[in-house]
Amino acid sequence: DVTTLPVHLGERSYDIAIGPHLLHEAGARIAALRPGARVGIVTDRNVAERHLATVEASLKAAGLAPTAIIIEPGEKSKSYAGFAEVVDSLLAARIERRDLVLALGGGVVGDLAGFAAAALRRGIDFVQAPTSLLAQVDSSVGGKTGINSRHGKNLVGAFHQPLLVLADTDALSTLPLREFRSGYAEVAKYGLIDNAPFFAWLERKWQDVFDDGPARIEAIATSCAAKAAVVARDEKETGDRALLNLGHTFGHALEAGAGFSQRLLHGEAVAIGMAQAFRFSAAQGLCSPEDAARVAKHLTTVGLPTRIKDIPGDLPDTDGLMDLIAQDKKVSRNALTFILARGIGQSFIARDVDPAALRTFLEGER
Ligand code: NAD
Ligand code: ZN
Repeated sequence: DVTTLPVHLGERSYDIAIGPHLLHEAGARIAALRPGARVGIVTDRNVAERHLATVEASLKAAGLAPTAIIIEPGEKSKSYAGFAEVVDSLLAARIERRDLVLALGGGVVGDLAGFAAAALRRGIDFVQAPTSLLAQVDSSVGGKTGINSRHGKNLVGAFHQPLLVLADTDALSTLPLREFRSGYAEVAKYGLIDNAPFFAWLERKWQDVFDDGPARIEAIATSCAAKAAVVARDEKETGDRALLNLGHTFGHALEAGAGFSQRLLHGEAVAIGMAQAFRFSAAQGLCSPEDAARVAKHLTTVGLPTRIKDIPGDLPDTDGLMDLIAQDKKVSRNALTFILARGIGQSFIARDVDPAALRTFLEGER
């Protein structure tokens, strides 16, 4: 019951395997590609406590030589210091050109370990074993790796595609519910972008996705396939990869407003951002109010926030949020472009959003 999605990018292709028991099979699957390799396993303390022993045993049984590098959980590890620590630990473990890095963890581990692999000896191969829902449906697919700078998130990094992705759906059983929900926002996003039947299916099956029923693997596979398809069309993000940012312009402003803290997880911010993108689209006469209401209803049903007032504590006022949105756009040098929608599954890149209309909308959202 493992689903395998082949990803083709230019000259390269690799598999994303999704299903139960994959951490137990990691050794056999990796040894098939790189027999006898040394493997630098990068993981964080939370994941190490729960899953590292399984992976180490599997690698050893397959004749691979693992060394574990355990980082502190959390976004703070995606730093210059964290990067130096991981690279130097990989060098100390004598990881050479034909060896491998294995990223075992959420998006933080994947981004950091992937960037370390991209830089180590000018680039060695790496395998992603994503253990959070967000990492399985989003960050492990697409080849973006990197760390944060004091100038902003993800500003230093490299495109580095993995050799293999092993998304073990059993590993999600130890993920805190709030983290699972946050990742689910990105799952729903793929339906909202261009797959209305998938969104309707999620409305019917979401409970099964949360309860680790058969729908979970299907939801993850559909999400990975959606991201892989966009990335294959647009690897370096020049065109419609931007659609993946649905909910992210509003979302990033809210995350920044909340100080990128535990008050508001990324997926929670994206959930609010998507609900806002649909409400704004409806206010602009682009999409029906019924569709906007349906989006908010589903997100609320699964326990995600959909409004600014759902965020605990204080946030910047409307002008403050407008500034944060403008800053985000300035860093990426694009004008006030947003991902808006003509309906569920009908998102598009809107390049001419009127700041005055946006301000009025945000004011009404408070
Ligand atoms: P994360 O890696 O911090 O993981 C969230 C929390 O869950 C952490 O505390 C972690 O220790 C814990 N955890 C992970 N798996 C677990 C498991 N199976 N059991 C118990 N605990 C577990 O955060 P995330 O949400 O996975 O990823 C967020 C990061 O991903 C951000 O840094 C973001 O910038 C990045 N990201 C990258 C891309 C990309 O394309 N490269 C895309 C989206 C997000
Ligand atoms: Zn996101």
